[in-house]
Amino acid sequence: MTFTGPWKQIASVQAKFEGLGVNLTKAFKCKVRHGRNTMFWLDTWNGDESLFIQFPLLFQLEVSKNCLVSDRLTMYGGEICGTWEWSREPSSSGEIMKLRNLLLICQNVRLGVGEDQWVWLLDEPNEFSVRSLKKVLNKEIGVVGDYVIWWNNWVPKKVCILGWRAEMERLSTRFSLAKCNVAVPSIVCPICGEVEESAEHIFVSCSFAQATWQVIS
Ligand SMILES: [Zn+2]
Repeated sequence: MTFTGPWKQIASVQAKFEGLGVNLTKAFKCKVRHGRNTMFWLDTWNGDESLFIQFPLLFQLEVSKNCLVSDRLTMYGGEICGTWEWSREPSSSGEIMKLRNLLLICQNVRLGVGEDQWVWLLDEPNEFSVRSLKKVLNKEIGVVGDYVIWWNNWVPKKVCILGWRAEMERLSTRFSLAKCNVAVPSIVCPICGEVEESAEHIFVSCSFAQATWQVIS
């Protein structure tokens, strides 16, 4: 599927998440009720993948690619019936077999009343929240949130806070700012001009920091 403008940017997030081991397409599934909010071929609602991926031969023959579940399936006497719109009738043995399989997996569908609902599959309860996504991401990339910094009462609080933030790379260094998509002219240390300006560099590895530590010691 192609997107333009802001949607292109929003959709590009998917690739970033995939790099972190989270497949957003498979993280949601539609729970069909009346079937009027769910696209029959394009949304994931029956099985782990969209039907156009499961049945590419039949999808090629579909006239209305964006059709809804309610366009294709109806309840008749308690049974589910298919209403198809093919560009030509499925005729090869492969197509007929696939159509049989499609009808088979649709037999378990029960259309009812009420809005179709998107379900978040990666965490309980199955309701999407940023907190839940963060939890999943932390699990995937192995972030452990139980690190405790040793709090030194001999120094002013602001010094402790600075050390704590430096340890987490949460200071407004050029490196951190660039990571948060803030436009900085350069990420290189403005003092030595050699390495990227991270918290570690400012306080430890920068030649200026090392000279300062030497004078102190
Ligand atoms: Zn430096």
